[in-house]
Amino acid sequence: MDLDTSLEELSWIPRPRILALRRLALETVGDLLRHYPRRHEDRREFRGFPREETIGPVCLCGEVAKTRLMRFGGRKIFEAVLEESGANALSQPLTCRWFNLHYIQKMIATGQQLVVFGRVKRKGPRLLIDHPEFEVIEDDEEILIHFRRITPIYPATEGLSQRVLRALIFRLLEQAPVASADVPLPASLRDGEDENALRKIHFPQNNEQLRKVRDHLVLGEFFRMQMQIAAARAENSARVGCRHQSRGSLAEQFIAALPFAFTSAQQRVFNEIKLDLQLASPMNRLLQGDVGSGKTVVAIAAMLLAVESGAQAALMAPTQILAEQHYAVLRNWLDPLGIRVALRTGTRQEDNAPLPLFARGAETPGSTRVSHVGDGVTLSRTFSEDEETSGAQYSKGRLPHFEKPWAIYAVTIGTKKRRCLSPKARTIALDALRYFHSKRYELFAACVMPDHVHFLIQPWPKENDDAGDVVFWSLKELLHSIKSYSAHAINKTEREGGGVWEKERFDRYIRSQPDLIEKFDCILRSPWDSGVAKPGEDYPWVWAQKDEVRRESPFPRDAETSTRDARATRNEEDKHTPNIIVGTHALLYEGVNFTNLGLAVIDEQHKFGVAQRAKLTSREPVPDVLVMTATPIPRTLTMTIYGDLEISTIDEMPRGRGEIITHLLTGDQLGEAIALLREQLSDGRQAYIIYPLIDESEKLEAKAAAKEFEIWQERLRPFRCELLHGRVASPDKQSIMQRFRSGETKALISTTVIEVGVDIPNATIMLIENAERFGLSQLHQLRGRIGRGAHTSHCWLVSSDKSTETITKLSVLEKTTNGFEIAEADWELRGPGDLLGTAQSGLPELKLGDLRRDAGLMRKARQAALELLENDPGLDCPENQRFRDLIVERQGQTFSQVS
Ligand code: ADP
Ligand code: MG
Repeated sequence: MDLDTSLEELSWIPRPRILALRRLALETVGDLLRHYPRRHEDRREFRGFPREETIGPVCLCGEVAKTRLMRFGGRKIFEAVLEESGANALSQPLTCRWFNLHYIQKMIATGQQLVVFGRVKRKGPRLLIDHPEFEVIEDDEEILIHFRRITPIYPATEGLSQRVLRALIFRLLEQAPVASADVPLPASLRDGEDENALRKIHFPQNNEQLRKVRDHLVLGEFFRMQMQIAAARAENSARVGCRHQSRGSLAEQFIAALPFAFTSAQQRVFNEIKLDLQLASPMNRLLQGDVGSGKTVVAIAAMLLAVESGAQAALMAPTQILAEQHYAVLRNWLDPLGIRVALRTGTRQEDNAPLPLFARGAETPGSTRVSHVGDGVTLSRTFSEDEETSGAQYSKGRLPHFEKPWAIYAVTIGTKKRRCLSPKARTIALDALRYFHSKRYELFAACVMPDHVHFLIQPWPKENDDAGDVVFWSLKELLHSIKSYSAHAINKTEREGGGVWEKERFDRYIRSQPDLIEKFDCILRSPWDSGVAKPGEDYPWVWAQKDEVRRESPFPRDAETSTRDARATRNEEDKHTPNIIVGTHALLYEGVNFTNLGLAVIDEQHKFGVAQRAKLTSREPVPDVLVMTATPIPRTLTMTIYGDLEISTIDEMPRGRGEIITHLLTGDQLGEAIALLREQLSDGRQAYIIYPLIDESEKLEAKAAAKEFEIWQERLRPFRCELLHGRVASPDKQSIMQRFRSGETKALISTTVIEVGVDIPNATIMLIENAERFGLSQLHQLRGRIGRGAHTSHCWLVSSDKSTETITKLSVLEKTTNGFEIAEADWELRGPGDLLGTAQSGLPELKLGDLRRDAGLMRKARQAALELLENDPGLDCPENQRFRDLIVERQGQTFSQVS
């Protein structure tokens, strides 16, 4: 038995248990052993029953003296009265209550010994615990597993009681090779808890051991993570990029022409970037700085360095509005310098397509004959019918990231009733697949067989939602597109009616590079292997992207070839080639050939994923990458999410900014705020009024927005107001923003579409309705839209929610405008988890470690990993070879590397 042994193979676990475990995604010995306890109960000695309410939950043991079931109206209440075992006269019985849980009464009976866990409340003369967690003590041979020890309590499970799960794990621990589960740690991180760590975390001998072993396992998780990060970093710096050497005179001219001087922080950061650009290894740098700290100008100066060195630069923003704004700002400053700036977004294109930077290579002919096919190679696996059905083992339940951005899917669609497609129809089907290639997905390989098709696709982004996040085409939509696009035409050629395609099903998503290659080969060999085509015979319905795409070596070409190529391309391009291209994420997906991209700047990185960054840097030569974020994040998170980046921080605001005064208002104080607002508008200032989306549904949302708008228009009459939300068509959005920027419109009633980066210095008021619905970081972002000019600005957070939670949260903003402080507070209030969508980071999930609570351990682990790889990059020393697995495993886990 090893950790990968499937639980099914252990004959002693009954089938129903196996199924229940599977529902928890516990399939192997390792899965079950790493199903860590949520908490432990000290059941060695129970404390006496309390006489009063307790502040937190307590663990008590007693005997059930009586039970009763009561009904109140429709409600059923089951009560069990516990008496302390060996109780003295003073101790008071404790009543446990459960509401509407009829099955409890079947579990608890008079005379039983019960362990309960919950908070004790006083109600009149009685002491109660409502809905305690409980366990009946059964005095059998297993008693020593469950009692008289520090007992593990597992995350709640349906269909598996604590007792059953605990016994399973206990037994497994006695048999399994526990030691091999341990992550190898370098000496600096070891603390003598390596032995039997898994056993100790489940069944510790004492609290001290529990604490130590937890730290040990957390260190293991963190170290693994940091080794992967450090390896990514090392890998990156080993790659060949371009030196961007320039005198820097363009940047100097630009800086000199600015109506202000760089702050010293801006200057420092600019120098850091300049040094990076000059190095041959590709830059991978994060520029952090609070909203309004002036990151954009630094980025522009950096882009000018790249341009002067003869390369092109790209600036990517998460939303249309922001891209448009950047474009306007860049034109404004760079036109006088003779720099050509182009705009490219999903919906708007400032000059004529295709831009040379993204020009696609020659169209691949549809019937690319795949040269290696039929050369007698025997396949280990083919797409037999069995294979297709066994695809079901990747069931939805096992794929938390079932539809994940940047995943590649292997899809098979059968024809209805195994209808056989004529040659013409096959061509149509293949054309349909190719039609959406580079529009809605990237197609890697396709093969149309007589009665089914196989293909490999990676869905592309479709649009941005209101928050500016990227929304991808769903598989369902894609399959529908392909099917409906082809079905009609096929029926027409074949002069038939009825359905063409079967209901969709797809095999699975691709987990790793080898997996991709294997699937790729299977698809391309399918006709020959299945006997549809004879060896050596041509089969025109197989399609692949050009061979080198798939065969691309994971190693960079040597620098000389790259530069030579780049230079040649440059000569071909004429004077209309833009030097800088501004756009949304569309820049990442339009075509595949970046030929001359020297520097890519990604604004508001948190809206993009690591995978997208990887997409960008998978090109050759690797462009220098500068990502910017105005979302300050706590340091521990920086070490993980951005762990593979060098970090520059602008920690100083430009001088001469007006102050921002923030106030919390309740709904009934709105009147005063409106009066103040009108005053400001009369003084010539402008205002943002933000309301949260009320409803998900488009129709309702538009209606709510319209209603809101009417009310505000009335309140602010005669000042001109306009309405902006995610459903406003793009060209209109653009002109609405234009009118606001020019001051024609005085107040903008908006959803959070204006969240990031919008820069209008004359806007000094921000009123946020239902402020409690937003997270702190988002409110901080929103507030960053004001206070950009010299005037004093006002931010009003309107909320009728008077709960302490809300007030605590919102008052953080009253106290500080420092983004880092807000980020820390936000983290503390919200707990770990979704602050930035760690899921996006592509890093392994943490089972035990808590980024916040264990920040110190993370620092240690990072230090150790960086040192290790610095001293021994290839992990060649005998004592370091054991760490190699930690890095290799990454391949299977991050598919961002796949493309
Ligand atoms: P962010 O860091 O939020 O992206 P921006 O780059 O949009 O900030 O800058 C905000 C505003 O501050 C812009 O109008 C910009 O022109 C201005 N600005 C940038 N740097 C300075 C500076 N050193 N002194 C004064 N104003 C500056
Ligand atoms: Mg910005």
